[in-house]
Amino acid sequence: MLYQRSSALFAEAEKVIPGGVNSPVRAFKGVGGTPIFVRRAKGAYLYDEDGNRLVDYINSWGPMILGHAFDPVVDAVTQRAKSGTSFGMPTELETQIAKLAISMVPNIDKIRFVNSGTEACMSAIRLARGYTKRDKIIKFAGCYHGHSDSFLIQAGSGASTFGVPNSPGVTQGTAKDTLLARYNDIENVSALVAANPNEIAAIIIEPVAGNMGCIPPVPGFLESLRELCTANGILLIFDEVMTGFRLAKGGAQELYDVEADIVAFGKVIGGGLPVGAFAARNEIMNYLAPVGPVYQAGTLSGNPLAMAAGLAMLEALNADAEIFQRLEEKTAYLENGIREVLDKNGVVYTINRKGSMISVHFAPDVVTDFTSAAKGDNDTFKKFFHGLLAEGVYIAPSAYETWFITDALTYDDLDFTIAAIDKVSKNL
Ligand SMILES: *Cc1c(COP(=O)(O)O)cnc(C)c1O
Repeated sequence: MLYQRSSALFAEAEKVIPGGVNSPVRAFKGVGGTPIFVRRAKGAYLYDEDGNRLVDYINSWGPMILGHAFDPVVDAVTQRAKSGTSFGMPTELETQIAKLAISMVPNIDKIRFVNSGTEACMSAIRLARGYTKRDKIIKFAGCYHGHSDSFLIQAGSGASTFGVPNSPGVTQGTAKDTLLARYNDIENVSALVAANPNEIAAIIIEPVAGNMGCIPPVPGFLESLRELCTANGILLIFDEVMTGFRLAKGGAQELYDVEADIVAFGKVIGGGLPVGAFAARNEIMNYLAPVGPVYQAGTLSGNPLAMAAGLAMLEALNADAEIFQRLEEKTAYLENGIREVLDKNGVVYTINRKGSMISVHFAPDVVTDFTSAAKGDNDTFKKFFHGLLAEGVYIAPSAYETWFITDALTYDDLDFTIAAIDKVSKNL
């Protein structure tokens, strides 16, 4: 495949946009080479600026769960645009999508729409801090909750020490209120809670982690977190930006039958437009302005185009009783196919999967947290990535990302992908 036009466009972009991209992982830093520029996409396929067709396993990092340019979403947005694209005044649409989301997700009474997953998580912890009148939060190493200051903290040494910012610009003052725990290690979390009595406002977690590859919770982990939070007056925040409306209608709360106190959404809920949301029971949500004292606002929040797209997406998912089962079956088929060819070709790997989130770690042992995920062989991943790209299969350009399976993929597409992996893995 040729990428001449993509390379030329990237060179132009670099002159006027830092690194040529508006979000860092797009820049191929993790795999080398220059990013592919997209011209258009439909269903399971991307078409790049050089005319190549790629089977897409990122799907805009999640939102395109029903495929690119999904007709009901495209129709809703184009129709809506003709009536004006933003008012800064309430619209009926906002109530419609709120009612539908609340009917699909367990344990929430009210929802507030924002413009991104970052905003949703940032607002969720402000609300938790205001509600509990406590300052500290616990997050897990390797979990991503957007780029707001409190979350850009990772374990430097030992998860039980105060956080160290991993981006310049995050102040020590902010970092000291973020405590780090090991994913899937309840003893570690309990110890942190015990060491900071009555200080922790919230524990925030990706209930199935997807930002260190896919790492599902070990059995009992989420349940134990729930008990720990309840016993200590801590709010449990599920960051379902990735898992919401993907693993089940009601997300991970439904799938694992564990109730969170605040839930953050993004990605699928916007149908491919910039949308985030956070939701909780009445007593917590009523703490939010203009009813309560915790301030949160947005000029474009609840934007009519974004709400129209999100509503069309949620309606499609809600109306399709088999969608999550179908995604499960397709992804299981892909998993089995990949296992077969990697085994046959003698590749050392670990596959993690939950529903339509799957990742191949080039690591010999089980991957249950950030430390074990980091043991993956990045050189192998790079070869794997570029090999697949040359075969017309596009996975995320980083070993720390899950693949997002879309219902637009046919079994022929999955066979095509497995054959590509067979070919590529012979030379790993
Ligand atoms: C993508 C993601 C975010 C951030 O959402 P943005 O819309 O990129 O700001 C937050 N949390 C999780 C779990 C995510 O996967």
